[in-house]
Parts: sequence; C-alpha cells; structure tokens
Amino acid sequence: MTMALCLRCGEMKFGAFCACPTCGVASTGNPQLDIRFSDHHFDSTSLSELGLVVKAICDATTDPEMRHWAFLSYCSTNHPSILKVSLTPDWQASTDSLLASLRLPQVTLRPSRQSLRNRAPLPEGSDGGRALLDYFKSLPATRELLKDTDIE
Ligand SMILES: [Zn+2]
Repeated sequence: MTMALCLRCGEMKFGAFCACPTCGVASTGNPQLDIRFSDHHFDSTSLSELGLVVKAICDATTDPEMRHWAFLSYCSTNHPSILKVSLTPDWQASTDSLLASLRLPQVTLRPSRQSLRNRAPLPEGSDGGRALLDYFKSLPATRELLKDTDIE
C-alpha cells in the first residue's frame, strides 16, 4: 500500500489518490504531483518531514492557493530533486516573503526502498542530494514530470 503525503494538510495517508483521513482531500488534481510525494519516491520519514513544512505553511496562511504554491516553491528552492516550479514574479515574491517569515523544519530526503529497487544504486562517494537529482533527471518519466510541473 502506498504511503503518501497529503499536500493539503501535511498528514500522511494511504494511497496517493485516496481521501486524507485528516482533511478529506483526495488529490491535488495533478496525479504526477500526488505520486511525487509518495513512497514511490521517498521514504515515509522524508515525507513526514515535508509534512511538517506543509503544516508550518498552513499555520501561517489560510489561503489555499498560497499554501499550495508556497509549499511547491519551498520544494523547488530547497529540494529541486523533487520538482522545479517557475512562479510568476508576483507569486514568487509572495511565497518568498511568506517562507522567509517561517521557521521551517529540517528536511532530509531519502529515497524509498521501492524507488531504489526500480533503479541502479546511487554512485558511491557522491553527495546524496546531488546524486538523487541527477538520477531523477536521468529517468525519462521524471524529465516529463519536471517539464509538466514547470509553471510559466
Ligand atoms: Zn490532508
């Protein structure tokens, strides 16, 4: 069973497209985005840590759009191996200023066992984050994902 992060409230849930037991929201509406934050890619500890970032953002604003884009902007800036987004200058400025006002928890991304099974091991002696990013870039499916989640 897939463990996934609810991007709406930051809690963990079963199934990337299943309703979150905490907030009731099932999906962001973008299946690739939902799967990105699941144990198809990252272990549950990494997802929980990302959940704390979602919760910190939710505590700071009630605007659902701002919550969504602030979190994706956070990921794009701090963990570009997850995804890259290009926001409009207005949105970038708003999300930057919101994120700068928060004390965000430390997040360490660890690939899930499932993701490791599906590809060759990380090169030895390489920096994990960098290697992970290179990995994702080397996968055809991920290149498409990166393109799709870029927002002009
Ligand atoms: Zn939720």
